Amino acid sequence: MTVQKVAIHTLGCKVNQLESSFFLEVLTEAGYTIAGRGEAPDLTIVHSCAVTSRASFETRQLLRRARRANPAGPVVAVGCDVHVELHRMTSEALATHILGNGEKLDILQWLGEPGTFQMPCVAVTPPRSLRGLREIRVHRMALGRSRAVLKIQDGCDAFCTYCIVPHTRGCSRSLPGPAIRSQLDRYLSQGFHEVVLSGIHLGQWGRDLGPANSLASLLRRLKVGRLPGRLRLSSLEPLEWTEELLRELRAIPEICPHFHIPLQSGDDDVLKAMGRPYGARLYRDLIQSLRQAFPDSALGADVLVGFPGESPSRFENTLHLLQEIPVTYLHVFPFSPRPGTPAFSLKDRIDGSTLKARCAALRDLSVRKRQAFAASFTGRILEVLVEKHEAGTPLWRGTTPNYLKIDFHGPRDLTPGEKVRVRPLDITPGGLRGEMVHGRSGG
Ligand code: SF4
Repeated sequence: MTVQKVAIHTLGCKVNQLESSFFLEVLTEAGYTIAGRGEAPDLTIVHSCAVTSRASFETRQLLRRARRANPAGPVVAVGCDVHVELHRMTSEALATHILGNGEKLDILQWLGEPGTFQMPCVAVTPPRSLRGLREIRVHRMALGRSRAVLKIQDGCDAFCTYCIVPHTRGCSRSLPGPAIRSQLDRYLSQGFHEVVLSGIHLGQWGRDLGPANSLASLLRRLKVGRLPGRLRLSSLEPLEWTEELLRELRAIPEICPHFHIPLQSGDDDVLKAMGRPYGARLYRDLIQSLRQAFPDSALGADVLVGFPGESPSRFENTLHLLQEIPVTYLHVFPFSPRPGTPAFSLKDRIDGSTLKARCAALRDLSVRKRQAFAASFTGRILEVLVEKHEAGTPLWRGTTPNYLKIDFHGPRDLTPGEKVRVRPLDITPGGLRGEMVHGRSGG
């Protein structure tokens, strides 16, 4: 069987997207080609997600569609939903190859090179016994050479009562410091100006290493060597903001003032039932102190709406908290009962229309907060990392350190990855619009 053209469908989180870019890279290096738009692939990979029942449903839909389009061809299911729906995937023959989170990074080994393509297989290591984190090489999450993501941690030990992730990605594993340093140096030599340190539960980085280590000490060691112009962190849980970490963050000018801190609920009883080890007060104090320490920072929160037992007054507690504190955007998720988690069997579920209305109220608040935050920067001069030229327009698009997206007029010969200075003039639905000033500010 000659298998050449590959299509990859990715569901779920940024870490999944990052890992898919790794698949893309190893497969193209081995001689596969990527199926173009409208081109029928010989091989389809579905990088699945299990975080909600909707994500599982979409995974099955994509697999079925690929099987129908190419009944004799290989269809590969990889990732989190494999661990939740393995029985269904095999009994309904939804895929020819099924690879768990422990196997997927060796995808080429399991599939074989184009001329030596391997027969169907099922290989799913239970998440509890996953091997150490594998270093992942080059990933570009943006066009050109502007931003790269470095996955330094995988898995989670927290077992929040609603979350399937520890059951699919296994316990927390950390990429050791020297491997992080060498990957960072590789990105620098490839010309990336921004690197995002990312993980499933980033704040648990280092706990599993011998001797145990912490994110604060990792940053301390990294700053001794060369850093990219911008170093961004993915999300950190409320209790992981230690004094020591704050000190390190303040001491590194390259750190982007953009922090994402999951809240999930602003009601103490709901937080307790979720197994989240903090209360609303601690969250409020944390956000206030981050606002003081980093006055221009973007501060984001995840909110999980409609957890069983979230009465109207408990939801109001969440809404009021978020109205009052200076977070600048929200990621709002409706509760989705996942089999195998303690919350699956909780009674007192919230009905569908109430759930929808609560999500809408929070999303509306998020839009207003985003716009107010963006508007507070109009007229100022901002440092912008150029990402791409907006096709069919005279505009460029770039990002500020605090992750404001800005469209701006600039010369045609700008290049992605270049830093320029831009004055925002007004807000747009996606961020800001402005004009370039004072020429370039260098890499
Ligand atoms: S911290 Fe909680 S919500 Fe986040 S991945 Fe771990 S178990 Fe899931």
